[in-house]
Amino acid sequence: MQNKASQKRGGGGIYKYHNSLISHESRLAHQTHLPFCAPSRLFYPRSPAPAAGLSMISRLGYSPCHGVHRGGAEHRRHRGCPYGCEFCSVTGFFGDSIRFRSNKSVVDELLMLKARAKKEGGEIAVFFVDDNFAINIKRTKSLLKDIIAADAQLPWVAQISANLLRDEELVDLIADAGGKWIFIGMESIDTENLASVNKGFNKPNEYTAVLQRLAQRNLYAITSFIFGMDNDTVGVADRTLGQVQNWPPGLPVFGLLTPLPATPLYGRLLKEGRLTRPKHWFDFAPFEMAHTPLKMGIGEAQDEVKHAWTASYSPKRNQAAIDSISDQPIQFRIGHLIARFFFRGIYFPLMGKRDWFNTVFQNRKLIFQLTSEALGLWWRKKDSSINVTVKPSRTQEITEAPQVHLYSIENSKTAESTELDVA
Ligand code: SF4
Repeated sequence: MQNKASQKRGGGGIYKYHNSLISHESRLAHQTHLPFCAPSRLFYPRSPAPAAGLSMISRLGYSPCHGVHRGGAEHRRHRGCPYGCEFCSVTGFFGDSIRFRSNKSVVDELLMLKARAKKEGGEIAVFFVDDNFAINIKRTKSLLKDIIAADAQLPWVAQISANLLRDEELVDLIADAGGKWIFIGMESIDTENLASVNKGFNKPNEYTAVLQRLAQRNLYAITSFIFGMDNDTVGVADRTLGQVQNWPPGLPVFGLLTPLPATPLYGRLLKEGRLTRPKHWFDFAPFEMAHTPLKMGIGEAQDEVKHAWTASYSPKRNQAAIDSISDQPIQFRIGHLIARFFFRGIYFPLMGKRDWFNTVFQNRKLIFQLTSEALGLWWRKKDSSINVTVKPSRTQEITEAPQVHLYSIENSKTAESTELDVA
């Protein structure tokens, strides 16, 4: 049974439960269903949106990686995944069956958010926090069709594994239903690495096609990579960057292979005697390894990650990324640059005015270029005697930058259990 003494609140709505770190919601699920420790099928939080105006959502703040923070509690929700990647805590923690909300429930919530945005003159973006939004392709297509039919589109972000994005119809529907950014766990460009962590369903030779398929529909990717896998050697960062830089511009993120407690990876490394910090979660240190990689040193793996972050968000790389989408509306390009600043901040935190000043100064040429173009468009728009001409497929007039609110929605959970329909 649960030992109350073992529950200790950590930062950001994370709690210690026995030897694991769990979110606020998961803790409640544990408390409801002990001793089985399975997530509750009964507990489903009511949406706060009917009571919370957009200004409140804005005030609560958001993180692209962790969804909206409501009342200080983190609301990233895990709902299970059948894939069972060795390093991932989702399958072990939530099981390999998935529960779905009804399409109507999700569509109604989107419509309500859309109505609030219209009423309050703001804009809102949604983060579908499902661990793998399209894990059941048939259901996902059905949901997206219902969103389109109900005219419930809002800009949204979701996490989808690369193998599911082979489906052209799915990608068409994602774009038509308001999808903007897709988080993809690429993990590695090395097939041996992927096989070693039970993620052989990722095919590196498909990555380029997947990202181009998205970009053709104005969808862009947050691509996630893990260094320090068993087949990684010094130079893994440059080898990975060599590929990333040929892809449509996205937001790459890099981390180290981390043996999370109770994952198969943790068990394997423990058995092999390779854990260097067996209780690393009690001494959280971002971007520090907790085990020894096979073909490189711990320090070398950490240096590779630092190099990947530095090179991916350098002023030169930012310029190249923005130049490669020069056919996009200026508002989109400015948004992309701002997103790049924030993503760089994952590794190099922007903690104060000095950090921001340095970032702006280092990117001054690009900022000046975009600002000049925006002001020029604004001026021409103001002067009604001059028409602004843009390509018909990308027609979007420059407008005052809207205040965008990010809201998290989960597609799966409660109500009904269903057979998986995994492509
Ligand atoms: S596909 Fe993603 S969520 Fe599913 S087990 Fe693998 S890493 Fe975890």
